[in-house]
Amino acid sequence: MNKKRSILIIYTGGTIGMIKSHDTGSLTPFDFNQILIEVPELKRFGFNLSTISFSPIIDSSNLNPEVWIKLAELIKENYDSYDGFVVLHGTDTMAYSASALSFMLENLDKPVIFTGSQLPIGTLRTDGKENLISAIEIAASEKNGQPLAPEVCVYFENKLMRGNRTTKYSAEHFNAFETPNYPNLAVAGIDIKFNYSAVHYPTNKKQLKIYTKLNTNVAILKIFPGMSREVLKAIININELKAIVLETYGAGNAPTEKWFLEELEQAIQQDKIILNVTQCSAGSVDMSKYETGCALLNLGVLSGYDITTEAAVAKLMHLLGRYDDITQIKIMLNQSISGEISK
Ligand code: ASP
Repeated sequence: MNKKRSILIIYTGGTIGMIKSHDTGSLTPFDFNQILIEVPELKRFGFNLSTISFSPIIDSSNLNPEVWIKLAELIKENYDSYDGFVVLHGTDTMAYSASALSFMLENLDKPVIFTGSQLPIGTLRTDGKENLISAIEIAASEKNGQPLAPEVCVYFENKLMRGNRTTKYSAEHFNAFETPNYPNLAVAGIDIKFNYSAVHYPTNKKQLKIYTKLNTNVAILKIFPGMSREVLKAIININELKAIVLETYGAGNAPTEKWFLEELEQAIQQDKIILNVTQCSAGSVDMSKYETGCALLNLGVLSGYDITTEAAVAKLMHLLGRYDDITQIKIMLNQSISGEISK
C-alpha cells in the first residue's frame, strides 16, 4: 500500500489569512488556525498535513530577505520528513520570494509551491480556497514515488508557474500572476494537467544545500525619457552599492547621450555590476540589435536576457552573497541557475 503523502504548509501571511479590522476597516493578518477552520475540506485530503506559522505573520509588503532565509532554513530542517511544501504568502512580493528561494535551495527535488489569494479565505467569493487546495494537491502529486513538480513554483488561479519566471501583474483580478517568458508548468481544470517538458526534473539525486548569505546592496533603476543626470548619479554613487538592475526600453535600449554613458562607465569601473533587463513585460534583452543597446554592451553592461526584474534582484542578492569574486558573479549572471533565463 502507498504511503500517505506528507505536506508541510508554511504560513507567512498575506491576504489569504487576513481579516477586516473592526476599527479601521483595513485588512490585517490573523491567526493561521483560523484558516483550517475556514477550509474544513483540507481534512478530506488523504494526506498528512502539518502547518508552521510565522510569528509574526506579515503583509508581504513588509517582507525583507530575512524571511527568505527563515523559509530556506525551515525547508532544509523539514526536508526529509515531507514530500512537498506549500508556502502561503502575500501576493505583493511573492514573485521576489519564489525567485530568491529558487536560487537559495540547491539540488531541490521536492515541490515548494507558493500561493496566496486576492480575497481573504473567509470571504464568500474567495479565491484562497481553490488556490490552497490545488497547491496542496500539486505539492503531493507524484508518479511512481517521484514528485511531478519538484521546483519552486507559484500556483495561482489555475496555473502552476516556475516561481522565478513570475510577476504580479494585476492588483484586481484573481488571475494575478503571469509568466510571460516561460510556459505554465501545469494547468488545473477538471484534472491537473502537467506540462512535463517544461518542468525541471533532476537527473541525479544530490543532497539539498541552502545558501543563506544574501547581499542586499542592490538597486533597481528604471530609465524614462527626461531622466536627469542627478538621478542617475545619486543612485550610482551610493557607496556600498554593488549592483544595479537597469530597466531599459524594448530589447535593452537606453539613451546614447554622453553623460548617461559616462556615468554608467564610471560605475562599471568602480566594479559595480549593471544588469540590463527590459521594461517590457515580455521578451528578451538583445543589446546587439540597436545602436542604443550596443553602446551599453561596449561599456560592459551585462545582459539579463529574458529575466524578470524580480528574479534579477534576487539573483544578484544571492550571487553577491555567495561569491566575493566579481568575475565569478558575472559568469553566473550569464547562466541559468534554476531556469530563470532562456539560455
Ligand atoms: N498586501 C498583501 C500581501 O502581499 C496582498 C496579498 O496578499 O494579496 O501580503
